[in-house]
Amino acid sequence: MSLVVVGSVAYDGVETPYGRRERMLGGACTYVALAASYFTQVGVVGVVGDDFDPADRRLLEEHGIDLGGLEHAPGKTFYWSGVYSEDMNDRVTLRTELNVFADFRPELPAHYRSQPYLFLANIQPALQRRVQSQMSAPRLVGGDTMNYWIENRREELIETLAGWDVLLINDSEARLLSGERNLRRAAERIRAMGPKILVIKRGEYGALLFADDGAFAAPAYLLDSVRDPTGAGDCFAGGFFGYLAEQGVDPGAGPIEPRLLRRAVIYGSVMGSFCCEQFGVDRFRTLTRAEIDARFQEFKALTEF
Ligand code: AMP
Repeated sequence: MSLVVVGSVAYDGVETPYGRRERMLGGACTYVALAASYFTQVGVVGVVGDDFDPADRRLLEEHGIDLGGLEHAPGKTFYWSGVYSEDMNDRVTLRTELNVFADFRPELPAHYRSQPYLFLANIQPALQRRVQSQMSAPRLVGGDTMNYWIENRREELIETLAGWDVLLINDSEARLLSGERNLRRAAERIRAMGPKILVIKRGEYGALLFADDGAFAAPAYLLDSVRDPTGAGDCFAGGFFGYLAEQGVDPGAGPIEPRLLRRAVIYGSVMGSFCCEQFGVDRFRTLTRAEIDARFQEFKALTEF
């Protein structure tokens, strides 16, 4: 294993203009882990309830994901539901039920603690911090968060992300976190909070990378049909971070090459785009690394001039 991912493992209820699913496998950790599993060996940290379907467990195992850190607890699995606008650029959260996550106190298995890469996917900031404190000396720590935590646990979140190298958030969250409308100024403020590598995701408009060598902008892949954008941001994070882990980056030994960071943004966009093609995690049932690399090449053609 190389990359430890902590975050929600969930059941989601989702409605988009293409249809509705009452209950399907989701969760930030699930999406990050599945996307990253195409690049590196992943182990997850999370908790599920006694309603967790063995078939969902098998999907993760089939991707070579280590489930030694996935606890089973009495009660119900985290549940989230949301409904998308007609153009799918906005979504409204209908329900967030923490369930077994409310009392989750992760204890990492011994073989997780010495891993070089750590990704703190979306979940309570205090849980993210607890997991980070149990890692012996990760080379690169990245994370994600969302408006729910920025609004409800602001202080806890700011303390938590002070210890991260990488933060990935979407544009509205960047504005909310920084209190700045202008994205360049928002990025400056957020980088001053800790994470020196910042990715601001902009949905169908692509993503912006801010790092020591300046900014980089990438468009989103032009899909002909978006069925369900749930998890796209997490899959972006999984592609971005998984690629950096695959490359063995080590900021302790010198700055990460800007070219690698830029490629990571493109792999992130590629993974986010695949995620949107089908509901929930369905695209990952058939996706191959060859398809991923082919789409990476298409990105070159899309942006080269
Ligand atoms: P994304 O579309 O990338 O923002 O991620 C959607 C996933 O985030 C869904 O699968 C949800 O289960 C999960 N999620 C929604 N709200 C939360 C929350 N407050 N904490 C952790 N995970 C969440």
